[in-house]
Amino acid sequence: MLVIMQQDSTVEQCAKVEDVIRDMGYQPLPVPGESRTAICVTGNKGPVDPSHLQRLAGVRECVSVTRPYKLVSREVKPESTVVDVAGVEIGGSDPVLIAGPCSVETPERTLAIADAVKRAGGQLFRAGAFKPRTSPYSFQGFGYEALDTLAEVREQVGLPIVSEVVDTDAVGPMSEVVDVLQIGSRNMHNFALIKKLSMVHMPILLKRGLSASLEEWMLVAEYLLSAGNHQVILCERGIRGLAGHARNIFDLNVVPLVRSISHLPIIADPSHGVGDRSRVRAMARAAVACGAQGLLVEAHTTPDSAFTDAAQTIDMDSLSGIHRDIRGLKGLETLSLDQ
Ligand code: PEP
Ligand code: MN
Repeated sequence: MLVIMQQDSTVEQCAKVEDVIRDMGYQPLPVPGESRTAICVTGNKGPVDPSHLQRLAGVRECVSVTRPYKLVSREVKPESTVVDVAGVEIGGSDPVLIAGPCSVETPERTLAIADAVKRAGGQLFRAGAFKPRTSPYSFQGFGYEALDTLAEVREQVGLPIVSEVVDTDAVGPMSEVVDVLQIGSRNMHNFALIKKLSMVHMPILLKRGLSASLEEWMLVAEYLLSAGNHQVILCERGIRGLAGHARNIFDLNVVPLVRSISHLPIIADPSHGVGDRSRVRAMARAAVACGAQGLLVEAHTTPDSAFTDAAQTIDMDSLSGIHRDIRGLKGLETLSLDQ
């Protein structure tokens, strides 16, 4: 249930509504919005009786929210959320290109790649300091050392940084260096990490879990929003399937669906979605064409020598090509998503 307040409602009237919601045994959550003040009723298991709330001073109307995720849904916040990452708008009118090697490599190589990413049109640099790997014998990332490299990239190349945080201990140190904290697929259901990240005041890139349903993914976003972090960017990166021809099933049909049910920006990661560099550019185009508001792409100056995920890592010519492609697709955004 969403309690929508009148335009001229007072702070006291809102506080009274919140008290009454608490008295009913639920939790009130104010919903930030430019055009209206609203308070969401959470914690209910079934429908909420609106009769009492409707009569309170300052209340315009009570509307029921049909989905289990509330703050994430457009029912509660109709206008789209734009997340500002150091001046780059994600969810605004232009699709955003985020690129970099899968892992932070040596400082020299990483700086050279970041410089090339910038020249190819990348707006944010992404590289993993900590790598959650399937095998304990695989390269695990340079860890805290890599954070110094990322800080150097930020300073010398001037691109904002996205990097994955794999555990709660790293949240503090990483938030000093990076601009966006990525929650990787393997951690989408790490609730200790999610709860900690719900309390930081910085953008979060929330990847869809390896085999997460749409509802499970949205409910993790709901964890972040309900504890106060509204700067959430969703990322479709493919889900586990039976196909032998691709690393994952790149589930693009979720993109327009998320755009219609949620106000949060959604980007797509064709690198992990496909797992093979020969098809990354085609699927990057497809993702933007169906409504993705940005791309996360693994790119390298010498892809074959990438420390991790070399098979899906594209070169800088392909990255420039993707940059050109998505600029050409910009006009599609003016089409309504249900056309
Ligand atoms: C990554 O972004 O390099 C990564 C490990 O991605 P995912 O969590 O989608 O597997
Ligand atoms: Mn990777």
